[in-house]
Amino acid sequence: MSYLTLRGINKIYPNGFHAVHDFNLEIEKGEFIVFVGSSGCGKSTTLRMIAGLENISKGDFFIDGVRANEKGPRERGVAMVFQSYALYPHMSVYDNLAFGLTLQGVDEDVIDRKVTNTAKILGLTDYLDRKPRALSGGQRQRVAVGRAIIRKVDIFLMDEPLSNLDAKQRVTMRSEITQIHRETGATTIYVTHDQTEAMTMADRIVVMKDGYIQQVGTPHDLYFNPSNMFVAGFIGEPPMNFIDAKLKHGKIKISNNEIDLSAVADRSVLEKYENAEIAFGFRPEAIRLPGKEDVSKSYQLSCSVELTELLGDSTNVYVDINGVKSILKVDPHDTPEMDSKMEFAIPFESVYLFDRQSERRIRLKA
Ligand code: ADP
Repeated sequence: MSYLTLRGINKIYPNGFHAVHDFNLEIEKGEFIVFVGSSGCGKSTTLRMIAGLENISKGDFFIDGVRANEKGPRERGVAMVFQSYALYPHMSVYDNLAFGLTLQGVDEDVIDRKVTNTAKILGLTDYLDRKPRALSGGQRQRVAVGRAIIRKVDIFLMDEPLSNLDAKQRVTMRSEITQIHRETGATTIYVTHDQTEAMTMADRIVVMKDGYIQQVGTPHDLYFNPSNMFVAGFIGEPPMNFIDAKLKHGKIKISNNEIDLSAVADRSVLEKYENAEIAFGFRPEAIRLPGKEDVSKSYQLSCSVELTELLGDSTNVYVDINGVKSILKVDPHDTPEMDSKMEFAIPFESVYLFDRQSERRIRLKA
């Protein structure tokens, strides 16, 4: 296990494109870190700089406190799993797993023990004689993971390893990778654009956008305490609703409803933002239904139902609050009729406010 330090890391590609800006992060021994963000935000570039596959343009990178900028990939004690499995098609699963160790000149009986053990961890015991083409996508991905974990490494890097799998296989592999991490204890950095993977697997998540870190925190932190609109909208599915409004005398108007924000924010905070454009945020799953749940200490709104999507365990309701579109998540048994009117309530404790201009979260208490 290793701990990693990234200090002021930047990547400027030879064509002048500045892909990663001032990336600062301490990664603890054995931590499972996920880099998440939309395509092109610099996740892979950062991972490849950590792997030693891409040089660091500016900044310092340390492994266990020792500067490692100039170390080659092999000297860093890392193993990497890519999106494409990169298996050898003409070799059996056994040989694919054994390959790296054979190259290192490891004794055959040691190799045999390790291959058998790794196959067992990954449920590949019955497939050791097969060639990759005779395996499902999920099994191939397991071989790729197996090849990385068979060598005892301190740092395990994964770049979108599940993106070629179907939805069901992804869910299975997600928990398997978490399990493997628990067993090997290797410090792991995992890159994905999928917020669900990030939320379910990470000890801590690094949210990136346009080459900049937006926020670093536990899944719980990011969900309940997003520091800006990007993080609030990226984490959570369906995303947080935002309603734009101008703050006047501590109040905002959402369609015909006047919302008195003094119920959720300190007076000094509201005074500071007097006349400012703000975004009023609430999560689809935070709402309550009058007549069914306690709606005291909440803002009550009415809307019209445009579309409902039954997901099984819940229903997404697409609504129009007099011109403002939002998504509400309700129990499937409470699914409203399309085109009907609907009342809902947003509990005070579930309200988030953002400065529309800077997109930063407004702290409600001074
Ligand atoms: P992500 O992994 O988040 O999808 P990448 O790290 O792959 O993003 O890419 C970040 C940005 O850097 C993108 O805009 C991409 O086009 C750019 N980029 C990646 N590789 C190169 C390269 N070799 N030369 C120039 N720009 C690159």
